[in-house]
Amino acid sequence: MKRTDYCGRIDRRHLDQTVTLAGWVHRRRDHGGVIFIDLRDREGLVQIVCDPDRAATFATAESLRNEFCIAVTGRVRPRPAGTVNADLRSGEIEVLAHEVEILNPSATPPFQLDDENLSETVRLTHRVIDLRRPQMQKNMLLRHRAAMSARKYLDAHGFVDIETPILYKSTPEGAREFLVPSRIHHGHFYALPQSPQLFKQMLMMAGFDRYYQIVKCFRDEDLRADRQPEFTQIDVETSFLTELEIRDLMEGLVRTMFKETIDVDFVDPFPIMTYADAMRDYGSDKPDLRVDLKLTELTDLMKTVDFKVFRGAADMAQGRVAALRLPGGGTLTRKEIDDYTTFVAIYGAKGLAYIKVNDAAKPNEDGLQSPIVKFLPEAVLRAILERTSAASGDLIFFGAGPEKVVNDALGALRAKAGHDRGFAKPGWKPLWVVDFPMFEYDAERKSWAARHHPFTAPKDGHEALFESDPGAAIAKAYDVVLNGWEIGGGSVRIHKPAVQQKVFASLGISAEEQRAKFGFLLDALQYGAPPHGGIAFGFDRMTAMMAGVEQIRDVIAFPKTQRGQDLLIDTPSAVTEQQLRDLHIRVRATDGAKT
Ligand code: ASP
Repeated sequence: MKRTDYCGRIDRRHLDQTVTLAGWVHRRRDHGGVIFIDLRDREGLVQIVCDPDRAATFATAESLRNEFCIAVTGRVRPRPAGTVNADLRSGEIEVLAHEVEILNPSATPPFQLDDENLSETVRLTHRVIDLRRPQMQKNMLLRHRAAMSARKYLDAHGFVDIETPILYKSTPEGAREFLVPSRIHHGHFYALPQSPQLFKQMLMMAGFDRYYQIVKCFRDEDLRADRQPEFTQIDVETSFLTELEIRDLMEGLVRTMFKETIDVDFVDPFPIMTYADAMRDYGSDKPDLRVDLKLTELTDLMKTVDFKVFRGAADMAQGRVAALRLPGGGTLTRKEIDDYTTFVAIYGAKGLAYIKVNDAAKPNEDGLQSPIVKFLPEAVLRAILERTSAASGDLIFFGAGPEKVVNDALGALRAKAGHDRGFAKPGWKPLWVVDFPMFEYDAERKSWAARHHPFTAPKDGHEALFESDPGAAIAKAYDVVLNGWEIGGGSVRIHKPAVQQKVFASLGISAEEQRAKFGFLLDALQYGAPPHGGIAFGFDRMTAMMAGVEQIRDVIAFPKTQRGQDLLIDTPSAVTEQQLRDLHIRVRATDGAKT
């Protein structure tokens, strides 16, 4: 029997035709002498009817169980009135089976495919069956369409797909790497690339002008819900374009992908916000603009008060005092406020001061309800109400302390409380965040680190600040943010060897280490390297958003768990002593490392 079409594509157009379909038994129902089979393939379901007139076919149908793989030939006819299923493309028709062939029976599946309450462990252990579920088939097909849309757009704009090595070299580029021991070179290692960053730059130096790749990247970091040790980027690099031109071209890519894949229109052009403004107004460099709330700056105001918590933060070198007004938040219960206090503690906040505005006309203990009102003069309370535009019935939260903690805590609270309390509008809010700082201070290592990566170009003239005030140097770096997620980030790159060396030096990378780790880059930069820049998009996150799922694991065919395991194939796994010997490796007894 030769298949003529997909189950999920059969509809009225096929009426009275004889079709041959192949797929899996999704459900089998015996209805007093007639057997109904929902036959499933990647395009959807179709109803097969087997009646006893054809004895052999009927007998086969009786023996079918869930997940048997079968082929069916039959005639397409309308469903009887009253049995039409508007949810299915094939819902108006059914196929009267002439022949049913069992291609392969199935053992009883480990779970019902339509079970909504499966644990992730069960799903990942039996991923092959899990992937058969209609939702997962949809997600994977959507991912394919998104990738095709990106490829078409990039191809139409002259981008060339060039592969880059997976066996790379250990370099201090930022993230912790996965190492691969060399059998041939005793004691030497490859590293898996955290991104093809330097290869794509060298492709520009080699004259390819516009490059892209949909590529796996590897980072051995602690996994959060939205992270995978191997993940996929749409990686792009261009020559001879300004920062603005690169952003325009890439905005077109994002717009096209979302339009072609899920038919949504984004604002044109995307709004642009500087990093400084984003941190001041939203406490985050990836603000969720669906939430209609902003932070209010109070640091200057609190330099005058005696209240230690606020004054101390305001006087700190990198301190901040800010407020978040929650309109109508006066109705928050003690328990709700306590829950938000616990929530901000995750971000390092030591507490969560608040004022309930009972009567905005009385900026004192009469009109304001809060343990801190008595510590603040009326003029300051009045100023707080004015700056936050607070009205009676509102609640004002406060963050005070090191700038980073205040931003992280109030930024996260803004998004959370905003969603909880109905201040989030539905829809899509894309945004460019630009003008990132070149460096950020790593207090643990007591040195400056690259905010983006060490190959990012400073704004014109900002090299001059590297020694005098590294924190003030701004980079030609940009992120694309969508609904509070950073979906892409990139920069104009350094194309002059002297500037590159200066950045390495600012990061505390000695001349010897520069040669050992990045000699290949410094050499290539000498031979007329073109001005260039690019971006990389987190393809897993983008497709998860398009599919409307929370976890990127739901748009990755074979993902790892949060503990970095693949439960289907059971890896990481032990290897033989001989394999280790070949690689010149000995496994140490656990030295207190976390397992
Ligand atoms: N390679 C960078 C990253 O993975 C993106 C870029 O600058 O193009 O974040």
